[in-house]
Amino acid sequence: MVLLEVRGLSVIYRTLFGTVKALDDVSFTLDKGESIAVVGESGSGKSTLALAISRLLPPNARYVSGEVLFDGINLVKLPQSKLRMIRGTGIFMVFQEPANSLNPVYKIRDQLIEAVKVRMIKSGEAFDEGKALKEIISTLRDVRIPDPEIIIDRYPHQLSGGQIQRVMIAMGLLMRPRLYIADEPTSALDVTVQAQILKLLKDLKSEYNLSIIFITHDLAVASVIGDRIMVMYAGQIVEEGNIDDVVTKPYHPYTQGLLGSLPRISKHEGKLPIIGGSVPSLINPPSGCRFHPRCPYATDTCIKVIPQLKITDNRRVRCHLYA
Ligand code: SF4
Repeated sequence: MVLLEVRGLSVIYRTLFGTVKALDDVSFTLDKGESIAVVGESGSGKSTLALAISRLLPPNARYVSGEVLFDGINLVKLPQSKLRMIRGTGIFMVFQEPANSLNPVYKIRDQLIEAVKVRMIKSGEAFDEGKALKEIISTLRDVRIPDPEIIIDRYPHQLSGGQIQRVMIAMGLLMRPRLYIADEPTSALDVTVQAQILKLLKDLKSEYNLSIIFITHDLAVASVIGDRIMVMYAGQIVEEGNIDDVVTKPYHPYTQGLLGSLPRISKHEGKLPIIGGSVPSLINPPSGCRFHPRCPYATDTCIKVIPQLKITDNRRVRCHLYA
């Protein structure tokens, strides 16, 4: 059953240097209980997509076209007063720097109690602090926080990065959102903690039947968390499909490049291949296929004609090679 449908979403940023076309005609759906990993380099539009879905775009951004249908309601047109009902309990977003999401002057206990209170008030339940506290302790245990009774009486600065990220995940669970959006939530953490948090999110997804949009620049991370994968390049979706299909046999040259640059334990081939060049400016994106200046297969057609996102073998690919 579809929870989220993004249709033809285009977003721009007005900057001193010109208009940045950050998202161009992005469309996809997400079912209840499904996870999708959105992958791309910095500047691909993946974080803009997360902010655009959550209606958290900065003031210099503008929706040019498209819809974000959440449970059938178009969030793009929703007044701020109604958005408050969706935020937190409808859509919960975890950012890359979780410490910025917590208030430094309040103890963890107060911030989590507030989250439960908001949920209860929105669902018409009577707030009971004792009951809320029991739920908080049990959820902190679910996210593998040791000694939660001690941790809740600490301030954010007294916790490690991994603990803060777990507290934010717990806050999301306490709010019982229908959609959980995580924007690079593990990239600031060391590799071991990163792996623990990813496993945790995966376990919690099945336990709580969460729908997740997971934003990452790392294909290896995406393959752990996503049921599906959506690869973005220069503001456009270039490939989208089942995670196993895409990782086993990537179609788009950009996805192939991302996969080729992943380290493999079994291979000792010296230097890892990298994708040459860099993500283009989105003020004046390249003509035709936006990937053509970096693509080893580019032809004259690629330089002149914009490739459309077409369905090929149960996945969507934007490349003339599959037209
Ligand atoms: S359309 Fe052309 S330039 Fe673009 S990815 Fe395909 S082959 Fe490469």
